[in-house]
Amino acid sequence: MFPTAPASPSPRLRIATCSLAGCFGCHMSLLDIDETLADLVDLITFDRSPFTDVKALSEDGIDIGLIEGGLCNEENVEVLRAFRARCRVLVAVGACAMYGGVPALRNGIPVAELMQTAYLADGLHDPQLPRDPELPPLLDKVLPVHEVVPVDLTLPGCPPPADAFRALVLAEIARRTPDIATELPLHARRFD
Ligand code: SF4
Repeated sequence: MFPTAPASPSPRLRIATCSLAGCFGCHMSLLDIDETLADLVDLITFDRSPFTDVKALSEDGIDIGLIEGGLCNEENVEVLRAFRARCRVLVAVGACAMYGGVPALRNGIPVAELMQTAYLADGLHDPQLPRDPELPPLLDKVLPVHEVVPVDLTLPGCPPPADAFRALVLAEIARRTPDIATELPLHARRFD
């Protein structure tokens, strides 16, 4: 449905997940699908995800890429671009991926001021700025996913409920674009 990347050669729907600046709560909600996964086991396969503990994406194309969290540093940008390139359908999952979420509360404060407050404030033991070269530089602002790469679908919520993930997967299996606004009742969408 979304010709942004090649589909998986597997007859099963291949699903991968990725977490950027998030709390992993959206991943926990995906895991809440629980036993209702049983009737999908012959139709889907998980690539990098909390179900498999696979750390690197396979060389096969990904049908659905679920991305949690916004972007707070340069590594997040690299990871997101690489993930986008592999995924036919990229889904921004939850408030952080869609809007920046809680991490974006820092956006009104210059990074230098944030670092000063966090690491050099009076009274801290051995105050110093982190200097490890492996630490990725912070972006000036926390960005939502769509400001860096094209997004095909969104699952609103903090986190989106398990039913939203299931509705998304069922729609993709049926090869139609899910309408989360109508398929997920309002009372099931939550921001807590
Ligand atoms: Fe966590 Fe909510 Fe952000 Fe998901 S949207 S990563 S549950 S804070």
